[in-house]
Amino acid sequence: MTTYPIDQIRADFPILGETVRNKPLVYLDNAASCQKPQAVIDSIVHVYSHEYANIHRGVHTLSVKATDRFEAAREKVKRFINAGSEKEIIFLRGATEAINLVAQSFGKSQLQAGDEIVISAMEHHANIVPWQMLCQQIGTVLKVAPMNQKGELIFEEFEKLLGDKTKLVAIAHMSNALGTINPVEKIIAAAHAKNIPVLLDGAQATPHMAVDVQALDCDFYVFSGHKLYGPSGTGVLYGKQALLEAMPPYQGGGDMIRTVTFEKTTYAGLPHKFEAGTPAIAEIIGLGAAIDYVSAIGMENIAAYEAELLAYATEQAEQIKGMNIVGQAAEKGGILSFTLDHIHPHDIGTMLDSLGIAIRAGHHCAMPVMDFYGVPATARASFAMYNTREEVDILMQGIKSLIEVFG
Ligand code: PLP
Repeated sequence: MTTYPIDQIRADFPILGETVRNKPLVYLDNAASCQKPQAVIDSIVHVYSHEYANIHRGVHTLSVKATDRFEAAREKVKRFINAGSEKEIIFLRGATEAINLVAQSFGKSQLQAGDEIVISAMEHHANIVPWQMLCQQIGTVLKVAPMNQKGELIFEEFEKLLGDKTKLVAIAHMSNALGTINPVEKIIAAAHAKNIPVLLDGAQATPHMAVDVQALDCDFYVFSGHKLYGPSGTGVLYGKQALLEAMPPYQGGGDMIRTVTFEKTTYAGLPHKFEAGTPAIAEIIGLGAAIDYVSAIGMENIAAYEAELLAYATEQAEQIKGMNIVGQAAEKGGILSFTLDHIHPHDIGTMLDSLGIAIRAGHHCAMPVMDFYGVPATARASFAMYNTREEVDILMQGIKSLIEVFG
């Protein structure tokens, strides 16, 4: 912890020097989207200034350069999550698009009416709605593994749902609404014991911990670049090669074909089969820069730093009368969801904003989680590698002043 270069890291993120409402910005909305280091911003500016052209189809120098840089980003993602091959890395717009791809391609081609998909009670809408749409389209059935009051998956209940009809488990690696880190190794072992493939929604996990898809042995892993300090409009689907090979394309168009006639089209191989149309070229290259950035600091170091920050924030929050933490899982990442007695979360968000503090208030795209706790919304402070104890103190001070005036 003493060696964690927090001052340097903060200096690398220009937006952290901004003031909001004449107060230094305290940015605690990282679960929604993270800020970008200068290296990512520079990388995008560099591409557009010096190396931009469309990729994969050109013989001219700029196109070749842009293609090389784009494919280098794929190699970086491959290393970052320890995939076995670049063919297993599909570039998309985000975790949402990645889950929709699996639902529509894997789901429609491999599942039949009556087959079951198991998710958990703490999923983001992005890992609920695509499965519901599939169920409406082909008659599959969605099963929901429950959680306890602390916001932890009830593992025995999850296991009971795994039956002959279960054809996929799709579950958050880390919950965005509660911070819960799910026991994904156990989940995968239990599912694989019954030959059920597992999709992990890593949108929240990837910024906070090292992920090794081969060690996990998950079948699909999805995440969003913008939550990992990269540009918006970028996301990744990892899938085991054999599974991806067997899946039909999700969208048709340029770049995903081998040959086209009016009678018949043949498709490109992996990963291009799933990348129809011009991708977010500069942004994906920027995602590569983000991965270089976090890798240089080390995901283990980031995880350890954030664990201390969360422990500190939790300890402080527990001492504030009238502040209720929502989600108290034993295994938790840097998210503090809370309510305050007598103050609506939206008012908390607005009033903290007047102090320069950015948190999120709402259902966090997890309405069933709100229903479970019987609240319309929560306030959520979510931490990133650049947040500090001083910022936690400012947050807690702000909350105390709200309680004094309105509580
Ligand atoms: N899954 C989880 C757990 C999330 O937190 C989010 C975004 O908040 C998503 C999926 C969807 O990510 P995106 O909107 O980047 O596609």
